[in-house]
Amino acid sequence: MPKKIYIVEDEKDIADIIRHYLKNAGYTVEEFDDGEKALRRIHVSVPDLLLLDLMLPGMDGLELCRLLRSEPATKKLPIIMLTAKGEETDKIVGLEMGADDYITKPFSPKELVARVKALFRRNQPDVEAAKNIQYGKLFLDVETHTVSVNNKELTLTAKEFALLEYLLKRKGKLVSRDNILDAVWGMDYYGGNRTIDVHIRHLREKIPLLKTSLVTVKSFGYKLKDEK
Ligand code: CA
Repeated sequence: MPKKIYIVEDEKDIADIIRHYLKNAGYTVEEFDDGEKALRRIHVSVPDLLLLDLMLPGMDGLELCRLLRSEPATKKLPIIMLTAKGEETDKIVGLEMGADDYITKPFSPKELVARVKALFRRNQPDVEAAKNIQYGKLFLDVETHTVSVNNKELTLTAKEFALLEYLLKRKGKLVSRDNILDAVWGMDYYGGNRTIDVHIRHLREKIPLLKTSLVTVKSFGYKLKDEK
């Protein structure tokens, strides 16, 4: 999946150049010429990164940044602030307001793309490591290796946990027993498919919602349905 970047910039020429370079770098891009429009869109679909001009008509970049930081869904959204030359104080304020980086106009588009890439790299390990999974009333915490349903913690074996994590990450997709075996037990495991079925049975016993959500696909594998 290509990463999605929103540009909030009222100067169309600048927005067009940025969009062109980011698209060439393989990103999906959407453009907004004011803060309110961007905010409405973000409330529908949060991007992977936001390029935010400081001086905008209506709600300015700082205000939008502050707002986004106050909302849980966008608290950690990577934001690069675009400032005009000479707005030194604003730069500092921008970072205090929670922007991750800033770039001063006029800038070279290549420099901007490099900053975007750098920010994605910087955020990567964090995002991956702390990726907790919510599935209906089930919550899996990757970092602490705990699973709870309705905030009640369950006791799973290491393999049950790994199996559940694997299935949750492939929600909505058909997964074969072979794939599960490779991913959870490792290539060199010769225990056979029965092992998986036994573990699945245990998971269904411990987590009743899986009895209906986790479907057995005959002679192939399993599918965890999308939550309703
Ligand atoms: Ca502007």
